Amino acid sequence: MEQIATDILVIGSGLAGLLSALEAEKAGLRVLLVGKFTIGMGTNTSLANGVFTVSNSSFSKEDHLRETLESGKGLNQERLVKTLVEKGPEALKELRDYGAPVLEKGMGYITDRPVNSSQLPGILLIKPLVERLRNSSINVLPGLIIFDLVVEEGEARGAFGFSKDGKPYLIQSRAVVLATGGAGAIYRRNDNQRSILGDGYSLALRAGLPLFDLEFVQFYPFVLGEPRLSSFLLYPPYPKEVRMFNEKGEDLLEKFHLQGDLNRAIVVQRDRLAIALYDHTQCGDVFFDLTQVPQKKWEHYPLNFLKKSKFAFHERPFLISPAVHFFMGGMEIDENGGTSLPGLFAAGEVTWGIHGANRLGGNALTECAVFGIIGGESAAQYVHERGTLQESSNLFSENFIKKWDRKVQTYLKRRRGTFDQPKDLLKDLKDLAWRYASPVREERTLKEGLDKLASIENRIEKAYPASLKDLFKKRDLENVALLLKAILEGSLLRTESRGSFFREDFQNQDDTHWLKNTCYRLEKGELQITHRPIK
Ligand SMILES: Cc1cc2nc3c(=O)[nH]c(=O)nc-3n(C[C@H](O)[C@H](O)[C@H](O)COP(=O)(O)OP(=O)(O)OC[C@H]3O[C@@H](n4cnc5c(N)ncnc54)[C@H](O)[C@@H]3O)c2cc1C
Repeated sequence: MEQIATDILVIGSGLAGLLSALEAEKAGLRVLLVGKFTIGMGTNTSLANGVFTVSNSSFSKEDHLRETLESGKGLNQERLVKTLVEKGPEALKELRDYGAPVLEKGMGYITDRPVNSSQLPGILLIKPLVERLRNSSINVLPGLIIFDLVVEEGEARGAFGFSKDGKPYLIQSRAVVLATGGAGAIYRRNDNQRSILGDGYSLALRAGLPLFDLEFVQFYPFVLGEPRLSSFLLYPPYPKEVRMFNEKGEDLLEKFHLQGDLNRAIVVQRDRLAIALYDHTQCGDVFFDLTQVPQKKWEHYPLNFLKKSKFAFHERPFLISPAVHFFMGGMEIDENGGTSLPGLFAAGEVTWGIHGANRLGGNALTECAVFGIIGGESAAQYVHERGTLQESSNLFSENFIKKWDRKVQTYLKRRRGTFDQPKDLLKDLKDLAWRYASPVREERTLKEGLDKLASIENRIEKAYPASLKDLFKKRDLENVALLLKAILEGSLLRTESRGSFFREDFQNQDDTHWLKNTCYRLEKGELQITHRPIK
């Protein structure tokens, strides 16, 4: 088993992880950054449209605070929102100082791109940060999949994982920053990267930490629904010539009263729009039509991005569908990015609290920027207070290392007889998620979903990994099943509708009974759910 020692381990190389690592290095500490792929890639950040909602010369801090809380419908953690609002402008300045091309626009900043460039803004955002990283002392381990957080004597002390070629790694660190992103890809219809399967949520639950509000999943209304094309998000801003209609030819922009207002609606009302559109797609197909958009607009982003596709978007209407976009739920952090486990910090989409019941568009990247920086700073401060690894005695005892050696053997014990192909099981889980944890939920289907999930869980248990690849897939299956169980059970308990969460059988927001956050824990392997009134 490979053993590595570092002061700070950052898990995840999206915007939150990159900024945490850069910030921690500034404090003169040894930092190790790991991700499932090449640093910065395979992340949702690399797909982002590059919009940051932050106060600027025409959008005040009060506006930002108000709009975020309105969108969150009473479930936001106000102290975190205040930190987001207060520190947003500084964080954007820091991004600019790193060379990220962000420019003031509308309700914040956008990622600028050279005229006619069809590169995604997320890539343009990440590139200078990765460049900065290359010129720093930060160590990187791309292609490392973290399986467990290491907790010793009530502290986070590192993590355990496998490289893609199967080498086990035990990493010792004084502090850990978890920045593993959300879990959109657990659904059949999603616009996320394929590998974003909620690993961070399972890592946290298995390490004994609580998660909150997992039932709140944000759906984006306009994702490509053409059967043989990948389901990517149709990036705003939308041209005024766009039309949206259903099978009967009814004009849906007119029906939803959205003419001329689609770009604002996608920021502040994406929950209602996604639910309305989902309802429509249940009775038939819904189309986007860009054929009336003048030629010259196709030269510019975002339409020039569509133009690169083999599909003739400019010549004929195409199918669209809502799809999973973002997870509002996740790990609890304080204003310093700290969790209830000493030494463990978290940042980015893996955390919970800022967005409440529905995220205001553009607030996810701002969250990654603000709390990425804070997470790195706080982890560095924590290490300085306790002494770096060089100064302190070895964190892991010989016995401890032996214990992990034995654990590796149990992970790697390959047994013959895979009953189900992991690929098929993952497909079944994703179909189940889309069908039963959809934008519109109700008691009957949630219960049915839980029954079906139990039988898939049985099949997962019996699926013995016959190869290393299977081992990784089995871990994915276990994580996805656990998360889905939480979403279905949490949804069943919440007998109201709020923000992105809609129950067909309880359509009203119920502040008398449900001004509460849902808390999920794993106790002796069993999922426990309780509710905590908003303070
Ligand atoms: C298509 C699209 C467009 C978007 N546009 C915008 C926008 O314009 N504005 C906005 O505010 N928000 C936007 N969002 C949301 C926003 O992009 C994400 O919330 C944000 O980028 C998440 O960043 P992150 O750093 O938390 O995680 P990510 O960028 O998703 O990175 C997660 C990292 O964790 C790693 N990881 C995960 N599990 C493991 C493991 N077990 N072991 C090791 N590494 C692991 C991954 O490999 C990856 O490196 C968009 C989202 C999508 C999908």
